Amino acid sequence: MNNTVICPGSFDPVTLGHIDIIKRASKMFDKVIVAVLVNMSKTPSFSTEERIAFLKETLGDLDNIEIVGFSGLLADYARERGAKAVVKGLRAMSDFEYEFQMALTNKKLNPELDTVFLTSDSQYMYLSSSMVKQVASLGGDISSFVPASIHAQVYERLKTGTRKELLK
Ligand code: ADP
Repeated sequence: MNNTVICPGSFDPVTLGHIDIIKRASKMFDKVIVAVLVNMSKTPSFSTEERIAFLKETLGDLDNIEIVGFSGLLADYARERGAKAVVKGLRAMSDFEYEFQMALTNKKLNPELDTVFLTSDSQYMYLSSSMVKQVASLGGDISSFVPASIHAQVYERLKTGTRKELLK
């Protein structure tokens, strides 16, 4: 049976929380498509190409994972790719209401499509891309938030206004 699932997100930038969910999904399903949102409501800090490159650098060694840019309706893309489910990570109850609404909307648009929720690893429950951006832009250490292989690149791009400069 072909159990293909999709892990969608903006990954701006990818964090250890995202990687944990994607790797766990790759052990549970035959194939995981990591779909990087191209059209975001907010302008991303990293281009689509950069966000995809960071994911590829981190996950390149896992052969049942495909990393692609994606725009349009997730429900349509899932149908196109023959994916049975969307896999999302749940950090806290605050994620739940929005995720539940999205899951029901996707199910309405594509009745074949289910959503599977994986609980966040407890060490990543607080972690989000926006938090990483905030810490790095103030010159803080993000080494325990993003994968080691991309840490320096992500930090260099984000640390534009360090706390020192701001206090001058
Ligand atoms: P963020 O919410 O970090 O800005 P994305 O839109 O890129 O991120 O996230 C895509 C999905 O990844 C989220 O819907 C959520 O399911 C999952 N996710 C994000 N951060 C974490 C985390 N720290 N632990 C578990 N899952 C997460």
